[in-house]
Amino acid sequence: MAVARTLILTALLITLAARAEAAPLQSSEFGESQRILHSLGGDDLRAFFGFTPSITVFSSSMPNAYWLGAGRIYISQSLINTARSEAELAFVIAHELAHGLLNHPSAAFAQSSASETALAEREAEADELALKLLKNAGFDPVEGAGLLERVRAKYFSRAGLTNWDLSVSRRVLRLRAFIAELR
Ligand SMILES: [Zn+2]
Repeated sequence: MAVARTLILTALLITLAARAEAAPLQSSEFGESQRILHSLGGDDLRAFFGFTPSITVFSSSMPNAYWLGAGRIYISQSLINTARSEAELAFVIAHELAHGLLNHPSAAFAQSSASETALAEREAEADELALKLLKNAGFDPVEGAGLLERVRAKYFSRAGLTNWDLSVSRRVLRLRAFIAELR
């Protein structure tokens, strides 16, 4: 089951990566995401991040976002719909940007090659840096990180724990610890 899920996800990511312009943001979402990018990185995004970020939305019933390398961020429509505030959307974007700033490999590559432990460690590193980026930009990190708690509560499997449930639960616990350190 877990292996099948990973294979499907990897195939999906590779398909998505091949169709980078498939689903541009709607104009209102585009405006909001650009505002968030500039709040986080200032006027010159390339100078700040070392890459030019681009955001693409894909349709999926699961709330997910991916760093695909070279500035490319993919966010599922479901995750955008779950976000209730600019700080929450900023958390998603900051987390993916953090993967880029930390030179993490593209999700399409990482999912198929790294161990669960290595993946969890990268997620924690990206979350920790995302909280700092949010704070630096004047967003409330606690509010932003609240999105992950809600995603976990809303999508947590009642039929039995999946790898996804466990990885999100671990992220939530570590996020709480990072937030406590920020204060
Ligand atoms: Zn991540």
